[in-house]
Amino acid sequence: MAVPVSQMWTVATYVLRQKIARRKRYPLVLMLEPLFRCNLACAGCGKIQYPAHILKRDLTPEECFKAVDECGAPMVSIPGGEPLMHPQIDKIVEGLIARKKYIYLCTNALLLKEKLHLFKPSKYLSFSVHMDGQKEHHDFSVCREGGFDIALEGIRAAIEAGFRVTTNTTLFDGADPNSVRQFFDEMMEAGVESMMVSPGYSYDKAPDQKHFMGRARTRRLFRTMLSNRKKKWRFNQSPLFLEYLMGKRNYNCTPWGMPTYNLFGWQKPCYLLQDGYAESYKELMETTEWDGYGTQSGNPQCANCMVHCGYEPTSVDDTFGSLRGFVDTVKATFSLYPDKAALADLEHDPPKTPPSPKRAGRERSRGWTRTCPAAPCNGSSFTAWCHRRTGSCPRFRARKLTRLDSRPRHRGRHPRGD
Ligand code: SF4
Ligand code: SF4
Repeated sequence: MAVPVSQMWTVATYVLRQKIARRKRYPLVLMLEPLFRCNLACAGCGKIQYPAHILKRDLTPEECFKAVDECGAPMVSIPGGEPLMHPQIDKIVEGLIARKKYIYLCTNALLLKEKLHLFKPSKYLSFSVHMDGQKEHHDFSVCREGGFDIALEGIRAAIEAGFRVTTNTTLFDGADPNSVRQFFDEMMEAGVESMMVSPGYSYDKAPDQKHFMGRARTRRLFRTMLSNRKKKWRFNQSPLFLEYLMGKRNYNCTPWGMPTYNLFGWQKPCYLLQDGYAESYKELMETTEWDGYGTQSGNPQCANCMVHCGYEPTSVDDTFGSLRGFVDTVKATFSLYPDKAALADLEHDPPKTPPSPKRAGRERSRGWTRTCPAAPCNGSSFTAWCHRRTGSCPRFRARKLTRLDSRPRHRGRHPRGD
């Protein structure tokens, strides 16, 4: 089972109550960001670019509880930043469990093993570990060599200690569907309860701007990846949302479905955009121009967005909004989506593995270099940014291999091209 029955029951009865009360706009998950600082610096991150005085700040447990009580959503997701760096994260989690909220504590798991003693296993608490694919792809994506191994160690320790553990995976352009499928196998074998997967949002602040996907490419990737599904894969997402990502449904955004509260207040309109802040949840709901958001609105900021925080609440609403939606959800839950065209795409798209740091170094020393496809300045500022943190730039190793010096080389003379 992808989520415990008690959680499914809580969410189903909550949504039905909203339907019976004819409440048009209701929250499903509160995105509670108690801090923005992090111990990683992922290239696709839109949260860690704040100035130092903001990155130093934390929400207090009382501020968190006030937001949770105001909002009333049955589930609370705690992203960040890295929430395990919050000095009172244990108090926040304890207070939310006392309120019977289902919590997804989103972490990159670098600190998970050493902070596990702060928490007690509970059906209300799940660690949602940021894993962006198989080892090399994850390390590439989070710009940290060895990040995957540390996270996996944290996952294993948490499962062994009796905690619920899920994963969340963000995919960018160039993701290899074969590799992601193997990653799903690995996570299931590691014993995670279920997985969540979403395309990345093209934050204008993210250092890497070239790897965000448009809608057509997102649909193709998810169709190739999620068709011909394996029975053992479990996803903690609405099955209709996964169908939406595969291009089998068309949904409009529900930006109020996952409201965000952070150091600045209630963020308008969603987790991804910052069109101002409200002081209270009521003010957020009453003063936001909701019709100006979502792909249906023509807002260019929303044009390529298919992210779960906007479209998953729509699919949940669809499930409970009609008998048809409910029947489709039941069918989708048990379907493995056989699809010959997707299978052919998988076969024609053999796994691509970034070269190891050793191999990349060898190539450079022989006068070969790889042109960085991510750096706007072809390897000056971005590569330097990445080198400082990882010791080697994974993006610099991608794609184009160019021989810089075509003259015959002799042993011991290595023209450096980069
Ligand atoms: S782990 Fe999350 S918060 Fe930290 S840098 Fe990466 S994407 Fe940003
Ligand atoms: S489409 Fe995406 S960016 Fe736009 S409001 Fe919805 S969730 Fe936010």
